[in-house]
Amino acid sequence: MRQKALRAAAVAAVLCAPLAACPGRGKQEQAATASPSAALAGARLNVLLVTVDTLRADHLGLYGYRRATSPHLEALARRATVFDQAYTYWPKTRGSFVAILTGRLASQTGYSKGRQELLDWNPTLASVLKQAGYRTEATVDNPNVAAALGYARGFDRYRQTWLEPSLPTEVDRMRAITADGVRALQQAKAGQPLFLWLHYVNPHAPYQPPPPFDSAFLDAEAAKGPVLRAVNGFHGGAHAPWAKAGRPLGWYVAQYDGEIATVDAEIGRLVAALDASPVRDRTLLIVTSDHGESLGEHDYYFDHGEDLFDPCLRIPLLIAGPGVKAGRSDVLASTLDLVPTALDAVKVSYPPELAGLSLLPATRGEDRPRRPRLPGQNDRNLLGAWDRRYKIVATPEGDGARYALYDRERDPAETRDASRQEPERLRDERRELELLRDRVDAQMAKTMRLLQGLPEPQKLDAPSCERLKALGYVLPAGCS
Ligand SMILES: [Zn+2]
Repeated sequence: MRQKALRAAAVAAVLCAPLAACPGRGKQEQAATASPSAALAGARLNVLLVTVDTLRADHLGLYGYRRATSPHLEALARRATVFDQAYTYWPKTRGSFVAILTGRLASQTGYSKGRQELLDWNPTLASVLKQAGYRTEATVDNPNVAAALGYARGFDRYRQTWLEPSLPTEVDRMRAITADGVRALQQAKAGQPLFLWLHYVNPHAPYQPPPPFDSAFLDAEAAKGPVLRAVNGFHGGAHAPWAKAGRPLGWYVAQYDGEIATVDAEIGRLVAALDASPVRDRTLLIVTSDHGESLGEHDYYFDHGEDLFDPCLRIPLLIAGPGVKAGRSDVLASTLDLVPTALDAVKVSYPPELAGLSLLPATRGEDRPRRPRLPGQNDRNLLGAWDRRYKIVATPEGDGARYALYDRERDPAETRDASRQEPERLRDERRELELLRDRVDAQMAKTMRLLQGLPEPQKLDAPSCERLKALGYVLPAGCS
């Protein structure tokens, strides 16, 4: 028993364990019994969540990038807390948004290879805020977060732009997202709090920015790098449907950067609308991404999710609003933290068993939350954990796993497994990861019971499947 207790304590140190040693445990218990009228006593702040698909932090000026891809985000950063150590928990759209919207690990939500959806037993940010009296709206442009897959849970209005024939291009859909945001902010009323989620897909491949951003970054760098051949898939060259004969890697990266600048301009319009709105001082604004992108690192081109390297994991995170201190924070921040952060800010009770922590103290200039490392998983059953320096990744092999250790201070590109050079570090990190694995397995055993007896996943409609194919999903789940 003592051994078990010790292990439990160690797991809590890996990341905040459900119902144990978590700040906000009282809140969770309250949530189980709180009546809707009690929940209405929140701070009534609006919540505006803006997510940009496939956005690498290190391709933004505010994270030190050499190109001017993000002037509007830089302007926002001057009044926001910018998180320098923000990571996704799951570097693929569906799994990432389940974590973003629930604040729970996949082993809790039931997200898995066979069920790549947001299952309806999970409270979401939208469902909790709706119960607290919020109007909840979303406009999204990625069939991976289709209502048919559960992502509309808790929203009064859920607009899926790709289903509208009057919005045939990505630019049309992007403008519709911004227009919805502007209108919602203009119409916002002090007595009716609003949760609005806007999701732009633009930086996702294929990279096809509109003018002037298609040529904005065709500088000397854009002519560099190997000329990429057309391939099927994402290794050894550019995915054939998107490949342009004779173009070097640098050209593709310049197009990716053009997509970022395109959506940055839209965020500029949204922030201007917020500033001109009656709720300027009553709105918490969160800007982030679901995951990054591999731009040729590790021979992985213009996709994300297969590995747990930093290009796919590291994301931007900016939080602005009442009480937020302008500045940088280097606390470890995860997409799992967005639910507790938003609910902490608006003073609405947490749903039970959150895996993340509130980042609100960091937005007040404090060096909290403090935790030693963050977890990551992907659709290939890789499991990883990292601190500011070391990362360990377990890859399934036979009945067990192969472990790799990366020293990101000495080896920022994560190209050398440091296991042999640092056996003690490997042992320590591996022990922590195995504890996390035990916890995930135990949760999954419980979750499996909930999964049994669920109806088959819904099939996606034909327009959604077509759109997924255009985004590079060869065999999208739910389209077979
Ligand atoms: Zn995505």
